[in-house]
Amino acid sequence: MVPAPARFLDLVDRYDGFLFDAYGVLVDAGGVCPGAVGAIAAVRTAGKPLRVVTNDASRSPQNAAARFARVGLPIAADEVVTSGQLIAGHVATAGLAGARALVLGTDDARAYAAAAGLKTITPASLGDGDVDAILTCDDAGFALLEGINAALTAAVRALDHGRTVALVCPNPDLTYPRGPGALGFTAGALAMILEAGIRRRHPGAPGFAYLGKPAPAIFELARTSLPPAARLLMVGDQLETDIAGAGGAGLDAALVTGISRWRDGEPAAHVPRWLLDDLT
Ligand SMILES: [Mg+2]
Repeated sequence: MVPAPARFLDLVDRYDGFLFDAYGVLVDAGGVCPGAVGAIAAVRTAGKPLRVVTNDASRSPQNAAARFARVGLPIAADEVVTSGQLIAGHVATAGLAGARALVLGTDDARAYAAAAGLKTITPASLGDGDVDAILTCDDAGFALLEGINAALTAAVRALDHGRTVALVCPNPDLTYPRGPGALGFTAGALAMILEAGIRRRHPGAPGFAYLGKPAPAIFELARTSLPPAARLLMVGDQLETDIAGAGGAGLDAALVTGISRWRDGEPAAHVPRWLLDDLT
């Protein structure tokens, strides 16, 4: 299959509802992305539901909605589905309730972890303390190098003493758009660095559990509040997370050229149905 060039506004009539990635589609660090205000307005005018499905675990849905409002995007908190919201389900299924968890991320990231039943610890407050879990939620909210050094040290010390450490990455994104033409590393990259560092000493150590896109859980969570038979279009800017995740969830996908550029020969799981320059 080869993706077809399209304009978002021409796709509104084709679907019953829309899932939007946030960074690189609706917003970037510089503000609102081209066409986003008009795209949201067009979906509203058509009377169709939308959800923002974001790997961002650094903001609560309320704070994400407030941020959207500041750049002119009227999106309600209950229309925002984040990878931070997946922490609770993972803690429950992995039996981590009550675990001492070092959280690399913002205050909201720690709030997600605390609400999930973890005893949260910051890099600054860790000291020589022991941890049972490490969560890489975001690149912000802590001193980056000190934070990953503290996490590496705590994980290796635990393994040296025969204890396990649960490694959890709510946001699998490696990079994000900081602004026009500017990229940055985020939580998934921190997880890769940590895992590589831990395995230098403990080659067989278990790796990270990744919660957000492309895993199906976030799409399942978004669908719980949408009509069950709705034909949904996922609009994203990263082949490995947004587009592959949509395919795995059985959804059509549109790639907004941004972090990822379309290349012939991509694996079948990465093939979007549509190619968009932006949301116009
Ligand atoms: Mg994105």
